[in-house]
Amino acid sequence: MDRITIGNVEITALSDGVLEFDLCNFFPAIPQESWLSYRDHLSPEGNVSLNVASYLIRSDGRNILVDTGLGPKPADAPETPWGELMHDFQAHALSPNDVDMVVMTHLHRDHVGWNLLSQDGKYVPTFPNARYYMSQIDWEACHNPDLVETRFPNAPDCVWPLAEMGLIEFMEGEHSLTSELTTIPTPGHTPGHMSIMINSQGQRGLVLGDVLHNTAQIQELEWCSRADIDPAVAQATRRSLVDKIEQEDLTVVAVHLPKPGFGKIVRSEGRRYWQSL
Ligand SMILES: [Zn+2]
Repeated sequence: MDRITIGNVEITALSDGVLEFDLCNFFPAIPQESWLSYRDHLSPEGNVSLNVASYLIRSDGRNILVDTGLGPKPADAPETPWGELMHDFQAHALSPNDVDMVVMTHLHRDHVGWNLLSQDGKYVPTFPNARYYMSQIDWEACHNPDLVETRFPNAPDCVWPLAEMGLIEFMEGEHSLTSELTTIPTPGHTPGHMSIMINSQGQRGLVLGDVLHNTAQIQELEWCSRADIDPAVAQATRRSLVDKIEQEDLTVVAVHLPKPGFGKIVRSEGRRYWQSL
């Protein structure tokens, strides 16, 4: 089931690929033994498996693409299982021309990769009819010389040129995208990280972004991946958002959880769990 509706909002799950990471590499601060009781949250090989999702959301007659994956697969990395997003567009009978708005939850490399294509030494937008929405705070962060190389390595190619092309819409704080979609700041993973609240016909949902990378973090709220830029702030955000999702019974759209990433957070015997839809 890669398509759900929340009220009048329709959400189609797309993917740019699925990556696997070594546990010690991806959660360097978490001892391997701590994962023993979370074996079923890992791949059969015991790795962290990350879907690189994009979502095409239809709201108010607009097509909104949330996040754009890692981008075209480099020719010198034939084994790398990414770069699938355009194939997945085709498989869903979608065209890049259909996209009216590209919204980035944040500016890490696996969320901006397909923003632009390089043609004859020039950049062209992959989604030629779209405006590109991003957090003002992350825009500033991805120009910080201390962060570019380590945290935003593809921003100079995939994000910066959008400004000269006049395609950027900056978001600050809560930003209304349509009458049914509003961004909310959920900082920590990146300084300007945003999630998207969906509210339509009395039904509510949340596009999470990178507040969670693995379902084990629903119980282990303190566990931070190496990708969280400010672990303390990321922990606080994760705690408050997981509480909110459970208390308000929100439908979750989760970029990196197992495909297609639709689920709820439910409580059983005092513990919270991810329940796929
Ligand atoms: Zn990510």
